[in-house]
Amino acid sequence: SKVKLQQAERIKVVGELAASVAHEVRNPLTVVKGFIHIFKNESNLTTSQISSLALMDSELQRAEKIIHDYLSLAKTNTTDLEKIDMIELCNHVIYVTESYALLKGVTVLNQLQDTYYVTANRSELSQVFLNLIKNGIESIDEKGTLTLSSSKTKGYVQIDITDTGKGMSEEEIQRLGTPFYTTKDQGTGLGTMFCYKTIGHLHGEIKVKSILNEGTTVSVLLPLCRG
Ligand code: ADP
Ligand code: MG
Repeated sequence: SKVKLQQAERIKVVGELAASVAHEVRNPLTVVKGFIHIFKNESNLTTSQISSLALMDSELQRAEKIIHDYLSLAKTNTTDLEKIDMIELCNHVIYVTESYALLKGVTVLNQLQDTYYVTANRSELSQVFLNLIKNGIESIDEKGTLTLSSSKTKGYVQIDITDTGKGMSEEEIQRLGTPFYTTKDQGTGLGTMFCYKTIGHLHGEIKVKSILNEGTTVSVLLPLCRG
């Protein structure tokens, strides 16, 4: 529809603009990072200098993460498509996010099963699940669970990511995926935007069901590979 097209065009422009800025900012950061590493190796540093350097390092890492979020927006490696086992890919993302979940007191229940092949760009699809799993973990204030499950419906594989987190109102669900919408102190509001864009390109769909103060299920549907 016309509205959808306008939305896609807006996302494209925002993405390209953001990416060009992000790219320019990355170079000076690299220079600063290099000097931090040189100073770290000085032999007669005081304790407070050492902790300041550590702080500089972690803040730089945070800046790099933000830049990464912005850069991934403009990229679409639709040329680098391959046949991917979705379950294997999700298992890998779960493995990568395990320590983050542990740190946040979140128990991850992996109920993924069977083998489902899709055609996609591997790193982009990993980024989609990384973003969604991270959002699930971050929605949980204290203890909670994140459950991943898989199923097949009419030529599509469906992955459900369910959290017992803070949930979203109908309004909040509507704002999901729009540029810069975030409720987090250190959020960029670009994660879900990237997910919608990438899954849209692959002719898939993202569905969100949420109840305030109870939790959220995000479902990713992708067409199954033929043959
Ligand atoms: P960011 O994570 O940087 O804030 P996202 O685009 O990933 O950006 O998410 C946008 C906003 O949507 C989040 O700040 C949060 O308010 C909301 N949100 C996303 N996923 C969930 C979830 N699983 N549960 C509750 N709120 C969520
Ligand atoms: Mg996010």
